Amino acid sequence: MVLPVRIAQALRSARTWIVLGILAPTGMLVLSGLMLLDMRRDAWDKAEQTSTNLLQVIARDIARNVEIFDLSLQAVVENLRTPGIDGIDPAMRQLVLFDRAATARDMGVLLVIDEHGDIAIDASALPPRKANYADRDYFLAHKNRAGVGLYIGQPLISRLTGQRMIPFSRRVDKPDGSFGGVVLGTMNLAYFSHLFDQIGLGQDGAINLYLRDGTRIMRQPFVDADIGASLAGTPIFAKFTSQRSGTIVKTSVRDGIERYYTFTRIADLPLILNVALSTREIEADWWTKALVIGAAVLTLCGLAIALSLLFGRELGRRAAMQVELARLSRTDPLTGLANRRSFEDALDGAAKDARRTGLPVSLLVVDADHFKRYNDRYGHAVGDEVLRDLARRLSASVHRPNDMVCRVGGEEFVLLLPATDEAGALRVADEVHDQMKGLTVPSAGIGRGAVTVSIGVASGVDDPDLFRRADAALYEAKATGRNRTCSAPVPPPRAEGRALRLVSA
Ligand code: GH3
Ligand code: MG
Ligand code: MG
Repeated sequence: MVLPVRIAQALRSARTWIVLGILAPTGMLVLSGLMLLDMRRDAWDKAEQTSTNLLQVIARDIARNVEIFDLSLQAVVENLRTPGIDGIDPAMRQLVLFDRAATARDMGVLLVIDEHGDIAIDASALPPRKANYADRDYFLAHKNRAGVGLYIGQPLISRLTGQRMIPFSRRVDKPDGSFGGVVLGTMNLAYFSHLFDQIGLGQDGAINLYLRDGTRIMRQPFVDADIGASLAGTPIFAKFTSQRSGTIVKTSVRDGIERYYTFTRIADLPLILNVALSTREIEADWWTKALVIGAAVLTLCGLAIALSLLFGRELGRRAAMQVELARLSRTDPLTGLANRRSFEDALDGAAKDARRTGLPVSLLVVDADHFKRYNDRYGHAVGDEVLRDLARRLSASVHRPNDMVCRVGGEEFVLLLPATDEAGALRVADEVHDQMKGLTVPSAGIGRGAVTVSIGVASGVDDPDLFRRADAALYEAKATGRNRTCSAPVPPPRAEGRALRLVSA
């Protein structure tokens, strides 16, 4: 079959439309799903980019400032080793020991603390202010061990300024290598708040700075209670310390918000910095788009499915109607039997089969006797009733699946019996007469045996005149008294058949 014809045929089928109506929206759904997933991926990529960039910028700034800070401390430690430094005028000594870093904006105090924890030299006061630091963690750390290098201590409130700060310290060795005190520089936490404040991370975003031991030094947004809190031992902090830098999605133990953390160690310092974005906020824009697109696609899909189903159902109904119409066009409405048109088609088919198999086809033409009288006497309705019962009885007289009973005229019927010879046909005719004996219409007072039929029988293998011969036999049955069966005489052999025989004789 040519392709366009096939397509046209498929488009007329209800099933095609139902399948299309489901496949097309499914395809649309899958595509939109993939597209939305891709958009979500983009949102996350963007968040990752933003976090990483921020993290790098902040980490670089902190590293540079801490380095400058440390250089100042190292300079003090170096200068303390200058021979005779202890003997010079205190004001002079201050100038020698401390460079301009001591005046940096977020610098708190810069002190030399002696081995007992007392302030020995104070960068910003002469004589030095009085305070003792022997209990501070950095003091003990340097006292207990040489070679600690730069020590960043726990965030504290300064005993001198009352400000929140982080202590940076280096050990001072005596000439014999024993503990000689520490040089302490404090950095105000304000430095970190200034740095972090410039960065917008949404409503639930955060920046955290930790000491390596898990102590939180700074958080943005700032909450006083967060400073100094320890995350040591929590799974999230274990992750922060397990690698130099990385990312992790975790629900915060602090406020129960799920965040995407990008973290890094700052240079080689014992500091860990992270930028945290709320996953809800990362996906917020995407969700809005997803909901709008999703709703639109679902509505369209729903519409497409509904329309295809409706269309498919309509096509199905039309197809069923056509089948029914075709059936009706081949059925007699009064009796429900096949009509003349069906009969003619069936006779053609049976004739073909007979020629192929060599088995004869038989026809019984059945006509009600004096039927006009019933109509005249009882009325047309009773006549119809008789015809219906007559049809049922004719149907009851045949038994093979291929036998066919048709109403071919007013009160005229045909029994088409494929693969049946004349003897068989006569037996069916007897059965018809027997059946007729039982026909009654009690309401009209028509009793048993009142309605009779006459039957003409003809059989043949390849006989185009079969119906005409059966009809002639019927005429004979009528003429010879009715309520009987007459067989058509065997037709003389056909001309070409004779010729063949003559030739072969
Ligand atoms: P015969 O024995 O010679 O066949 O006599 P008949 O009266 O049966 O013959 P005829 O062909 O003259 O009349 C047939 C009658 O059948 C005519 C009509 O009144 C009746 N008839 C035909 N079709 C119908 C029908 O559908 N319903 C009813 N009730 N009667 C019908
Ligand atoms: Mg009749
Ligand atoms: Mg008739």
